[in-house]
Order: sequence, then C-alpha cells, then structure tokens
Amino acid sequence: MFEHARCWVNGQLVPAEQASVSVFDHGFLYGDGIFEGVRFYNKRAFRLPLHLKRLQRSAAALQLQIPHEEVFIQAVYAVIEASELQDGYLRIIATRGVGVLGINPATCKEPGVIVIADQLQMVSDAERAKGIRAIITATRRSQPDRLDPRIKSLNYLTSIFARMEANFAGVEEGILLNDRGCVAEGTAENIFIMRDGELLTPAPTEGALAGITRATVLELAAQLGIKTRETVLTAYDLYSADECFFTGTGARLIPVREIDGRKIQTCPGEAYQRLAVAFADLVHQETTSLSP
Ligand code: PMP
Repeated sequence: MFEHARCWVNGQLVPAEQASVSVFDHGFLYGDGIFEGVRFYNKRAFRLPLHLKRLQRSAAALQLQIPHEEVFIQAVYAVIEASELQDGYLRIIATRGVGVLGINPATCKEPGVIVIADQLQMVSDAERAKGIRAIITATRRSQPDRLDPRIKSLNYLTSIFARMEANFAGVEEGILLNDRGCVAEGTAENIFIMRDGELLTPAPTEGALAGITRATVLELAAQLGIKTRETVLTAYDLYSADECFFTGTGARLIPVREIDGRKIQTCPGEAYQRLAVAFADLVHQETTSLSP
C-alpha cells in the first residue's frame, strides 16, 4: 500500500510505516491544522510557491506559526528524492501540534509539520476519457463568514458528507452549493462550465477554494482566446451548460458528462480538450525547464 510513500515528519525522513503523529496532536484531536496537495512531475513540484503562499495564508487565518518556506521546500525535495518517483503527489500538513486534551490551542507549543510523497490517481483513464457523473448534494459549503472555504484546513467533513452522498447515489462526484443555493465547487475540485463560448466559474467568495489549478486554467483560457468570467452559477446553469469540468491538483482536469441525471451537451467538450492539452504542455514546460 505504501510502496512508494515517503514521509518527512518534524524534520526527519521516515519510512511510511513508521511515520506517525501523537494522539495528543490537535490536528488529530480537533482538525486544528492546514494542508496543501501538490503534484510533482519529473521530480519537480508544480507551482510550489503558490501552494506555499496559500499554506502561509491558511496559517495566518489560524494564527499558526509554521516554519519558513525554505524548510518546506527542502522537505518537499527530500521526500521526492526518497520516493524515487518521477511523477507523484505531495501532501504538506501543518498541525497545531501536541497539547492537552482540551481544545485550547494555546497549550500547543510547536506545530507538527509533515510532508508526504506518494502516488495519487483520482479517476481511471477510461473515466477521464468519457467524463464523470455528478450530483448536486444536499450538503452545502459553509459561508465565508463561518469557516471560510478559502482556508485549506484539516476540517474536510463537509466535503466528506458530500462525497458520501455521491457514493450513495452511485456517481463519481458531488457538487456543493453555498447557503444561497448558488454553485460553490466539487468536494476537492473547482468547477467550470462553458456557455456561449464563455468559460464561467464561481468566485472564491461563492464558497470555492482559490484553486491553483483553477487559476492556471483561467490563465490558459485567456492565452487560448477563450473568454472567462467569474460569476454566480445556479443548478440551472450546470444542467444547461454546453460543457462542464472539474479542476484540482489531484484531479487535474476532469470532464463531467452528467449532473443529476441531466446529460451535459458535449463531453469531453472542445474547450475542455484544448485546456487539458494546454495544461499538460504547461506542466511539461514548467517542470522541465532549469529555473527553480
Ligand atoms: N476545492 C477544494 C475543496 C479542494 O480541496 C481542492 C483541492 N486542493 C480544490 C478545490 C482545488 O484546488 P487546487 O487546484 O489548488 O488543488
């Protein structure tokens, strides 16, 4: 199971089977912590500075003192090297650390810092080729004035509830609305639709994570001459879309062929295909050049 997984735990490289955290770590006890998922290609982490920036912002929101980004960069390259993988997935985690059983974060003196390198395949190649099915879940994203979805925290129960609904419905993914009934995102992906030649996606203030793949896709669309707009989307917009796809570090780009039983006009659509090719090209370009 952990054949390729390599871990860096609080400054030490350790084999996956021996990598562990204390049961008194508040990350474990209360979900008090943050994380990032990063892909690496050709042993190079893709857009690592953006992930470390988002990690640092999540840490600021939690008032969590995390190590300097250089520490993360070194840990990332240490686990990549140790994994012997060319391409893979990294998980960077910072927890509140060990404290008393009570919830008070002030009792935790040092954050726990973990970096894992492993493989991750979210969908099979066959599923990606034909597109996946999704439902709009009864579970809603929390509003930015509650637990702000822009914080990438260890609290993923909302996504897990939504994914359980999708599993129960026998489809591959769930789409969460916000409290106003507008589209937010998938359980671990941002969502895009094409309509009248325009690429549309909800703004982070609608309850979406400020996804790094999302930002990359918006950038690539602009380069390809596809008009883009952050906007409010409802279920109707999804059902009547010309195309729909998810984006995420784990997912990369995944086309959607059906939502709540409604067949999406084209899947995989033309815009999706152009963007998926452009994304693969960009990844190749950025991870084979000599710049750090
Ligand atoms: N939304 C959620 C809830 C996620 O967990 C993720 C995965 N990090 C995304 C969106 C996609 O973000 P990114 O492209 O930065 O991976």
